[in-house]
Amino acid sequence: MASAEIIAVGTELLLGQIVNSNAAFISQELAADGIYVYHHTVVGDNPARLKEVIEIAEKRSDILIFTGGLGPTEDDITKQILAAHLQKQLVEDEYHMQKITEYFASRNKPMTENNKLQAVIIEDSIVLNNDYGFAAGMYLKDNKHTYVLLPGPPSEMKPMFTSYANPLLLSESGDQNILESKILRFFGIGESQLAADLNDLIITQVNPTIATYAGDNEVVVRITATAKTQEEASALVRDTEQEILRRDGTFLYGYGEVSLSELVTAMLLEKELTISAAESFTAGLFQAEIARFPGISKIFKGGMVTYSEEAKQSILEVSHQVIKEKGVVSEECAKEMAENVSRLCNTDIGVSFTGVAGPDSLEGHPAGTIWIGLSVKGRETEAYQFVYGRDRNHNRRRAVMQGFQLIKQFLDAKK
Ligand code: ATP
Ligand code: MG
Repeated sequence: MASAEIIAVGTELLLGQIVNSNAAFISQELAADGIYVYHHTVVGDNPARLKEVIEIAEKRSDILIFTGGLGPTEDDITKQILAAHLQKQLVEDEYHMQKITEYFASRNKPMTENNKLQAVIIEDSIVLNNDYGFAAGMYLKDNKHTYVLLPGPPSEMKPMFTSYANPLLLSESGDQNILESKILRFFGIGESQLAADLNDLIITQVNPTIATYAGDNEVVVRITATAKTQEEASALVRDTEQEILRRDGTFLYGYGEVSLSELVTAMLLEKELTISAAESFTAGLFQAEIARFPGISKIFKGGMVTYSEEAKQSILEVSHQVIKEKGVVSEECAKEMAENVSRLCNTDIGVSFTGVAGPDSLEGHPAGTIWIGLSVKGRETEAYQFVYGRDRNHNRRRAVMQGFQLIKQFLDAKK
């Protein structure tokens, strides 16, 4: 199968002023084509270094896809350097030259000489039309490599790739393998534990491959299979997925590009269940998270941040006795907070967060000791204890996600 290398040209990329989103886009498209991408390269607008990058890429890749540096200014050098390297001339492309000339004529603007540069292409290349700009793209083959030159701005690059470059790449990749990927998202299990559980699968993997990534409070597993047909690729992915779920399925919360909070919010909206929150050490994080999603006013009624003992009593009506006898880091306090907030806000579900954010301990409980209360109409109120580490803000974020997970488990069981 052909291998491709994406070469993004631009000093702004190296300086961190822009993110190389072009490479992400092209990689996803090539994966769908069944063309392997083994390298992403970024190089500045520097002739010697660009030439060096081309020489390296030719040694290890069949297809070289460039983005950027096709514009009219001094620092746009991609086609000039590639032409020199391939010992080819630069010639004018009539279509783009006419387009540029007409544009300036229609606006009565003088056309500067350098604008014409955008209509110049490397001889023997197939022109890729730029439907959203002036710089012509190029597709060029010699007996060893395919070179594709695309403009830098994503608004020009993407349509050019999709409409003109990709069909050419597809028509020439003799091996029409399909690549299928599936993303599984887990909560409540660490990456090292998951990797250990799947170790035998991971070390023997060839097709499909299994990769694990640690996200913020989640672990992501990507399964990728390649086959001649879509059906075969899907079957390979499915078998591996089933084996993974047989081992750690209880921690799975979703598939693809979704977050736990997004998923739970959608479930609440679908079931039209209203919710409120009483937050101590998370101080509004749960409510801020749920408010991210549009349409949430249908189910999210509000809540309270009751950080101090006084506020827990005066605003949330937690009993003095519970606080005095059991403390705020307690099952009883979490339950009362959840129950009271759902009563005061008149919601189906009330969730509460109380605990020791850290790094110091509280009421004799070590940092990271937390309680989450869940009060649901018509069901006995529950509270759950978790013990995390000492990282204050990690604990706060993790507790919020744990809260969403508890709500999800309740909703799943209710189905
Ligand atoms: P122009 O005609 O606009 O100069 P160009 O083909 O010469 O286009 P560059 O000058 O390299 O391209 O980049 C122009 C702009 O395109 C950048 O300022 C940036 O906004 C965007 N861009 C360039 N490369 C990338 C990339 N790899 N990923 C995302 N955006 C990019
Ligand atoms: Mg430019």
